[in-house]
Amino acid sequence: MTANERQGRSGLPSVDLVLRSEEAGALIGRYGRSLVVDAVRTALAERRRCGVAASAVAILEQSAQSLARDMRMSQRRVFNLTGTVLHTNLGRAPLPEEAITAAVAAMRDPTTLEYNIETGKRGERDDHIAGWLTRLTGAEAALTVNNNAGALLLALNTLAEARETIVSRGELIEIGGSFRLPDIMARAGTRLREVGTTNRTHLADFAAAIGPQTGLILKAHTSNFAIQGFTAAAPAVKLAALAREHAIPFIEDLGSGTLVDFERWGLPHEPTVAETLAQGADLVTFSGDKLLGGPQAGLVVGRAELVRRLARNPLKRALRLDKIRLAALEAVLRLYADPARLAERLPALRLLTRPVDGIKALGMGLLPVVEQRFQDIAEVSLVETKSQIGSGALPVSVLPSAALALRPLRQRSGAAVEALARALRGLPIPVIGRIEAGRVLLDLRCLEDEVAFLEQLDAVTLGKHGAAILAKP
Ligand SMILES: *Cc1c(COP(=O)(O)O)cnc(C)c1O
Repeated sequence: MTANERQGRSGLPSVDLVLRSEEAGALIGRYGRSLVVDAVRTALAERRRCGVAASAVAILEQSAQSLARDMRMSQRRVFNLTGTVLHTNLGRAPLPEEAITAAVAAMRDPTTLEYNIETGKRGERDDHIAGWLTRLTGAEAALTVNNNAGALLLALNTLAEARETIVSRGELIEIGGSFRLPDIMARAGTRLREVGTTNRTHLADFAAAIGPQTGLILKAHTSNFAIQGFTAAAPAVKLAALAREHAIPFIEDLGSGTLVDFERWGLPHEPTVAETLAQGADLVTFSGDKLLGGPQAGLVVGRAELVRRLARNPLKRALRLDKIRLAALEAVLRLYADPARLAERLPALRLLTRPVDGIKALGMGLLPVVEQRFQDIAEVSLVETKSQIGSGALPVSVLPSAALALRPLRQRSGAAVEALARALRGLPIPVIGRIEAGRVLLDLRCLEDEVAFLEQLDAVTLGKHGAAILAKP
């Protein structure tokens, strides 16, 4: 039988013939037989439907391509050059090596997650971090859950179910996506009692709202906006005293929440958890993956009696942290014991405090190389820009930074800029920038691996219509 005969009347090879080559063997070694057979069948069916002939080599190549596409990890590493350091959509804080090592070790083997080595009896998973959190914040007790939204849900449900939660109208926040304070309250089973106005709320407004129905008073950090002008808010110290007078818990949702004073590194002041507790909050809730620089988590610190009540709520079980994130969180909290070296060791803080001169110097070094790579595609320049902290921390403050600005050469349309941004996103390690004034801006504050960044830029080329596209691999 000749190869031609084997190809049959359709001009296509049989599955067997395609699988017989050495290259097919390598593909099977990589993906397993059944996936490769499926891919080959699909490729053959496609050609048959279109009525086009193809060689075994061509079919195998098409199969290899579709397998590579289908088997690629969906969640992938990216370069965050958006200028937003703690970008919620890009996974917020990058973790320090210490946390990665701890998380990997916890993944691999059984651990003392809920086991007390001394007594040989059941332990408490939050004990691994409670010691650190109380030490770093001055709180009596601490507890962890899945995220800050979960922390708030748990606190509201435990302390104010079927009763009222008093909140200022100026603090009924939406954090973005699916976090709106009134919705969380409804789900927690507490009734929202709004007081004051959008711009001004006074202590007397809270005092007038307190009654037999009151479950708690909540103060929420206005994370992602600032009201300016004719404004007034009831000071936390006064609210705490008022709550104490009526034996009602007073909770502050700090959002980002930091354990150290950022002024130390020349950043604007953000209220620390310790300060907030010192001003009288009974409980403070905050995120693990915002300014804290750790894994996704919701942290609750404050009075021991209240923390105990939260821990006993069945919702705690539904919201609890796994051993992997607890290990990473413990490793991050340990770094805070040595604040002098924190900015070197905690990536989130390292990026936030990166000096603008260093970022500019990085840009100067990259500029000629990037210019050369994009010579037919875009005009490249180094521009001053402002990075944001992100995740709703310090909404109005911005960090001076530098960016590579790429302006499409052949076309000046919005579509050309979009095409360029899309090509950059299509790279093996997607480069995520932002579009501003007809240019793609690549803020260099969060670029630390410039070798990997430069290495892949060759893949961007000029398409038929003058727009940037990705070269075929
Ligand atoms: C970010 C934020 C939240 C939500 O925290 P997650 O950890 O994302 O669940 C809640 N409240 C405030 C004020 C925030 O800034």
